[in-house]
Amino acid sequence: MKNLAILGSTGSVGTSTLKVVQENLDDFSIFLLSASSNKLKILKQISDFKPRYAFLDDKESCKALKKECSKLGLKTEIVTDKRIYLELITNSCVDAVVAGMVGIAGLEAIYHAVNTGKRLLLANKESYVVAGEYFNSLAEKKRATIFPLDSEHSAIHQCLNSLTEKSLEVFKVILTGSGGPFLNTKRKELINITPKEALSHPIWNMGKKISIDSATMMNKGLEIIEAKWLFNLDEDQIDMVIHPEGIVHSLIELKDGSSLAHLSLPDMKIPIAYALGFPKRINSGVQRLSLAEQGSLTFLEPDFEKFPCIQMAKDSLKVGGTATAALNAANEVAVNAFLNEKIPFTMIPEVISHVMDKMQFFPVKELDIIFEADYLSRKVAKDYLKL
Ligand code: MG
Repeated sequence: MKNLAILGSTGSVGTSTLKVVQENLDDFSIFLLSASSNKLKILKQISDFKPRYAFLDDKESCKALKKECSKLGLKTEIVTDKRIYLELITNSCVDAVVAGMVGIAGLEAIYHAVNTGKRLLLANKESYVVAGEYFNSLAEKKRATIFPLDSEHSAIHQCLNSLTEKSLEVFKVILTGSGGPFLNTKRKELINITPKEALSHPIWNMGKKISIDSATMMNKGLEIIEAKWLFNLDEDQIDMVIHPEGIVHSLIELKDGSSLAHLSLPDMKIPIAYALGFPKRINSGVQRLSLAEQGSLTFLEPDFEKFPCIQMAKDSLKVGGTATAALNAANEVAVNAFLNEKIPFTMIPEVISHVMDKMQFFPVKELDIIFEADYLSRKVAKDYLKL
């Protein structure tokens, strides 16, 4: 029996993880559930999965949750102190930590998981975008293993794991991307896009932040950075192709011209089941892929002019150090401003470009340098937008 800590349990990754657990109740039990503030949803999860501990980041909601649990006679201990919550992640009972929370806010919890050598199921791509190099060396020192839950990176992980080291002397990674909801929208029409339109992704059902990132294609930019650190690649080893059906989740290309791909229906439960079960394959509860039913798969070149965020992400990777943290922070501020209808869709890349011009970048020796770069970049972005 493996004990899991599921961080961000009420979000889309958290709920998908619990569905996979439900399929494999003899193999997994829940040690800790945490979320930011969704009291009703976590209460339902507590009564369904009986975790040993639960935590809500919002103090008032957490206190209210504690009352509700005792009223219902639930035995789960509700932790109200954030320090104790972070210590629980490092508890020797925890076999795997699922990092499903959004944004740089997840960095501290991820640090605790890596620093105590856990198996980390990483859906929080921002942490690897801003601190990939740092977390890699920490993971090596503490013998933590990292399994990406991003479908593209899970696909690459699965392809790489099927090969011997010798066959990987030369290889290239090709990330696929659906192209987002505006793949066929004309460039000049992007200015009128509303948050509601941007949130309706054609293939994946995801949280708000990542849905907007998919619409601007910054998501693919962040995934290029994530891939570099997860698999120790050079920038010219990473390529991308648009694949609207979302069936081929990524490929690797080998020296002899062979390409290996990972295919499945687009469902987060596939990478989650792979990462939870590894090296065993376990039930994911996902429907089988029928290629005949699918009929055809299409692939096309990305439009870097219509979606300038991809190149911005690549450029920040070239600069290195805190540049990717600045990019990420500027993007988070801009996405929020767009969601709150403060700026048009097309201004998201403009904000990022402004911040990247204004900021100075430094090597990342410790997490504090990232927090500082994050704070300053947000400030520059907010000043620019007069927020
Ligand atoms: Mg992805």
